[in-house]
Amino acid sequence: MGDPTGDAMRFETAAIHAGQDPEPVYGSVNVPIYQTSTYVQEEVGTPKVWDYARGGNPTRAAFEAALAALEGGERCFAFASGMAAETTLLLTLRPGDHVLLADDVYGGTYRLLSKVLGPWGLAFDTCDMTDPRTVEAAIRANTRIVWVETPSNPLLKIVDIAAVSSAAHAGGAKVVVDNTFATPAAQRPLALGADVVVHSVTKFIGGHSDLIGGALVTSDADLVEPVAFLVNAVGAVPGPMDCYLALRGLKTLAMRMERHAASAGAIAAFLDSHPKVNQVYYPGLPGHPGHDLAARQMTGFGGVVSFTVGSAVEALKVARRTELFFLAESLGGVESLIEVPGPMTHASVAGSPIEVSPELIRLSVGVEHPDDLIEDLGRALG
Ligand SMILES: *Cc1c(COP(=O)(O)O)cnc(C)c1O
Repeated sequence: MGDPTGDAMRFETAAIHAGQDPEPVYGSVNVPIYQTSTYVQEEVGTPKVWDYARGGNPTRAAFEAALAALEGGERCFAFASGMAAETTLLLTLRPGDHVLLADDVYGGTYRLLSKVLGPWGLAFDTCDMTDPRTVEAAIRANTRIVWVETPSNPLLKIVDIAAVSSAAHAGGAKVVVDNTFATPAAQRPLALGADVVVHSVTKFIGGHSDLIGGALVTSDADLVEPVAFLVNAVGAVPGPMDCYLALRGLKTLAMRMERHAASAGAIAAFLDSHPKVNQVYYPGLPGHPGHDLAARQMTGFGGVVSFTVGSAVEALKVARRTELFFLAESLGGVESLIEVPGPMTHASVAGSPIEVSPELIRLSVGVEHPDDLIEDLGRALG
């Protein structure tokens, strides 16, 4: 944070102003919710901007312009969900193309490849991307995309975006970074060499657990046209109300991420010294294997903390006992959440090479007072 973005506007300023000029007729300070499916044309075949709202909507365009500025990319495309963004991007590939995935990629991304786009014709492999040499060795002649997630979900592994981008580009592949956990407030993958950023806008960008959304950001001329075409052809687009909420979320992203990270750091330290906790996964802890890299590549360590307890049964008990941490899937909202990835968010990868331990608990640390959160966890651990 703090460095110039776009037209020399700093991050916090771009979050309020990029793409958000006051509405011209009434001067509304907020971008209105343009709840329309179509637009009047002055002559046959001459729309003002868009002819139909699957192709575009002013509220959506404002959110896209703002997020593009924050990620330092030329174009942003908003979608109805993170999975809709991923699917649309992967449809730029052709049957026979190969995708290399990080080995603890988001369960839904793995399921999209294994159950939907695999049968459709895409080949894919997973590999441990914490060592860029593994990526180099796993790239094939038909590899088109190297799919990175850092920090990863749920183990918070850190991947060197610059090193993996060099390896992928040398092998003729594009690099996609799922930046959902870090957000542009803490990490700018495009500046580190990645070609595309993917977001689940549902999480920290929306930030209030009140919408499902996704986005892609890129400056890659090879991708802008094909993705723009698919946005309209496939139609996995968000409605104007969700775009309004996402834009509203962006305005406070920098401040929320600072608080999420500060509280997550305090909670990780508390858990690290708790006798009932075995292992804590948080890149802000000096003992985390990706700590030094995260300190270089990020400007904050994010709001997600995972940890293991003595048994699967104990993990279920802790998750049921917290009161402030709601037992729920998802992450990135102002309210704290707790979940057990094995049977919950990562159930779709059970039995696969990326299966997670049943003793693992994942926290999404909200913006409540951190002492209340620590006391809640202390009581739940007993
Ligand atoms: C939630 C999530 C997704 C999928 O996004 P949806 O908005 O739920 O479709 C993708 N990647 C990561 C890292 C996520 O946490």
